[in-house]
Amino acid sequence: MTNLVRDVAAAVEENPTATAVGFRGQEWSYERFWGMVSQFAAGLQEAGIEPGDRVAVYLPNLPQFVVAFHGTLHAGGIVVPMNPQYKAREISHLLADSEASVVVALSDLVPFVDAVREETSVEHVVSVGDEAAGTTSFESFLAEAGTEIVERADDDVAVQPYTSGTTGKPKGVLLSHHNLAWDARATAELLPGGVRPDDKFLGVLPLFHIYGMTVTMLATLFEGGGYYPLPRWDAEETLSAIEAQQLTVMHGVPAMFNDLVNFEDAGEFDASSIRFANSGGSSLPLEVMNRFETLFDVELYEGYGLTETSPVTHANRPGERRPGSIGRPLDGLDARIVDADFEEVPPVESGPVDEEEVDLDEITGELVIHGPNVMQGYYGLPDANEEAFTESEGKRWFHTGDIGYRDADDYYYVVDRAKHMIVTGGYNVYPREVEELLFEHPQVADAAVVGVPDDRRGETVKAYVVPVPDSGVTPDEVKQYCLDNLAAYKHPREVVFIDELPRTTTGKVQKFELRERDESADAETDAAD
Ligand code: ATP
Repeated sequence: MTNLVRDVAAAVEENPTATAVGFRGQEWSYERFWGMVSQFAAGLQEAGIEPGDRVAVYLPNLPQFVVAFHGTLHAGGIVVPMNPQYKAREISHLLADSEASVVVALSDLVPFVDAVREETSVEHVVSVGDEAAGTTSFESFLAEAGTEIVERADDDVAVQPYTSGTTGKPKGVLLSHHNLAWDARATAELLPGGVRPDDKFLGVLPLFHIYGMTVTMLATLFEGGGYYPLPRWDAEETLSAIEAQQLTVMHGVPAMFNDLVNFEDAGEFDASSIRFANSGGSSLPLEVMNRFETLFDVELYEGYGLTETSPVTHANRPGERRPGSIGRPLDGLDARIVDADFEEVPPVESGPVDEEEVDLDEITGELVIHGPNVMQGYYGLPDANEEAFTESEGKRWFHTGDIGYRDADDYYYVVDRAKHMIVTGGYNVYPREVEELLFEHPQVADAAVVGVPDDRRGETVKAYVVPVPDSGVTPDEVKQYCLDNLAAYKHPREVVFIDELPRTTTGKVQKFELRERDESADAETDAAD
């Protein structure tokens, strides 16, 4: 029996007066934080929540998120995190599918809950912020006295995040107490010397997403460090917070690091307190990594993971990293590169390979994972579970849907997502390779490459580019630059300049949106040749 909040409870006993959560200049000690967690758990019990019941948390990164998250687990409940950018239409599926009976929502978001309430099992709405009709305020929901931690089995579900639904309806991912506790501990160990009690983690990765939840919030609270949530991404606000609070650890996505290196006033902030910086969530362009390291004088490590693996499976470790690689598998899990018949693809001698020199199809395959952080399955979706796993040699392997290769030293390289690969005139083009080149262009601030339908070639390569403001560069010059540096079939036949790329809240480019844009309107650029 266990409950992952026991790991935080241990930190409370060890460091009752240390800061657990810091927000806008205020700090909550472990003792005070834990008191609220226990009172929230008791509030849930008074509201009739039983072990295994689901509580939806519909909040940006605020201290109340941290309390509601731990309080729900403390009471034996299951947390269903919901993206606070979602509107009524998007949350209706999550609430109905999960059968959550309590929703903890920002007051401004309560109207969205009200709009769909009848289609769901929601019985109580707890509001954070201004008073909202028909809800109980967060403060008055806290019971007068706390309660005992409810014990759960290792495999009992703790959190049920939803996939972003780029390929159909969002799927509920069942992550157990053991899945999350294992991954939080493993990622805490990646820091040089592990997480220290005086570490202060920047909490700008959204908490509704597994990356922010495990790698920033849980990893630091498990070890008695501090967690400093920021409700939204803004380069200047983030640098101010780092300077003012002397934050020591920064986890982010490549889009954030790219914003920082393109932020003109970055040099005016003192970010020298950062001792560990890590990027994940999508591929980190080498150019962005190099510029970040020069500007901030700290190494930036790349890791890899998915919601379904709680999330981290691979990471570069201090002192032994390979730029361009997602690193080696975490100790204690198995990773493999397999072909369509589930045969292992042999490793290359050393990486990263020069993609112009090798036939990628020969060295790559799908990355599959077996380990203690792999989800229990998708909620109520037997067909999706069937597709997601393969049983082999007594192990249950999870299919990541990512194409990659590994080298003889067990470093892995993600080439791209299988579904992003472009097949043009019989050739396979991985957008990432073209994007890496675009990032090297001094007048390109951001870029994404997609495949668009083409009568002759099946698909062609199209680049969406955000130029550096006032640089005077033209789409034709960017196209020529690609043609000069890539095999002809890989170069973008169309280059479109836009102000900003559409991104998810977790910083991923919404490629389906770019492709749809192409299908609907699209006449703005000359499609040469
Ligand atoms: P959905 O499954 O709904 O489409 P999603 O795939 O964006 O959403 P996540 O679990 O957030 O959901 O993302 C996992 C994916 O992110 C991985 O499968 C991989 O494609 C990508 N990814 C994560 N880290 C890296 C990295 N370092 N390099 C390249 N890709 C990465």
